[in-house]
Amino acid sequence: MSPSGELHEVAEGVFAYVQPDGGWCLNNAGILVGADAVTLVDTAATEQRARNLRSAIATVTPLPPRIVVNTHHHGDHTGGNFVFTPSATVVAHAATRTQVLEKGLGLTKVWPDTHWGELVVSPPTLTFTDRMTLHQGDMVVELRHIGPAHTTNDVFVWLPAQRVLFTGDLVMSGCTPFFFMGSLLGSLRAVRALRRLGAKTVVCGHGPVCGPEVFDVNETYLRWVHQLARDGLAAGLDPLTLAMRTDLGEFAALLDPERLVANLHRAYDELQGNPPGRYLSSAPVFEQMRVYNGGPLTCLA
Ligand SMILES: [Zn+2]
Repeated sequence: MSPSGELHEVAEGVFAYVQPDGGWCLNNAGILVGADAVTLVDTAATEQRARNLRSAIATVTPLPPRIVVNTHHHGDHTGGNFVFTPSATVVAHAATRTQVLEKGLGLTKVWPDTHWGELVVSPPTLTFTDRMTLHQGDMVVELRHIGPAHTTNDVFVWLPAQRVLFTGDLVMSGCTPFFFMGSLLGSLRAVRALRRLGAKTVVCGHGPVCGPEVFDVNETYLRWVHQLARDGLAAGLDPLTLAMRTDLGEFAALLDPERLVANLHRAYDELQGNPPGRYLSSAPVFEQMRVYNGGPLTCLA
């Protein structure tokens, strides 16, 4: 089997690499092709998928990526870095480097049956904490940190001239938002800030290429979870019980709805006055998502 993604040219020399169906570990990447350099935004979860991404790049340019941007530390976005190094420099937020080194190949333990290949941990080697601008020929590529939101180290990639935005997992297209490792209120602030950029085309970390309408569903979901968590806390319900009793309504159509359980854990933690982005143990929460789901979480990587 040779799973591969779809290439969409969203502006001249700007490609979205979309891996259907966008669920757990099936992330999107961006390929920015300049006259004499190529920048890649995120890699892929498995060795095979990263190699397929490299093959896809070769169909649009003879140049290998010189820079790989990681939008955050999660293994689906960083696992394939090693396929592009050392000829490429991996650029990310400073905490992305820390987290990649700390988590190692942890993602492979969550889905032990996935064909991960021979992954080699390859952390970012050029880091920043606020913002950075790449000039690739006449293409201006802005990297900006925001958050804690999806995680503590999210960076979005904004091409102001093309009005193309790569959001990383700050925004999801057709998939359930996930802020267990970041912040609910930070995610709300991030979605509002990204909306203000005025993007014409939005490439989310997961799911189909879309337009700014994607901000609506993400913001509506986040506000809904916020209210749900307030009500659940007041009623003395734990996150799993609350999630099991809740009708998802319009959000039932989003992939991986079990993320509600994890999201409620973070929302509760914040509503109880704890700082956003603080470490919460993920193993018990993934187990609760499995219970909610009535079986293992689907990973098609
Ligand atoms: Zn992520």
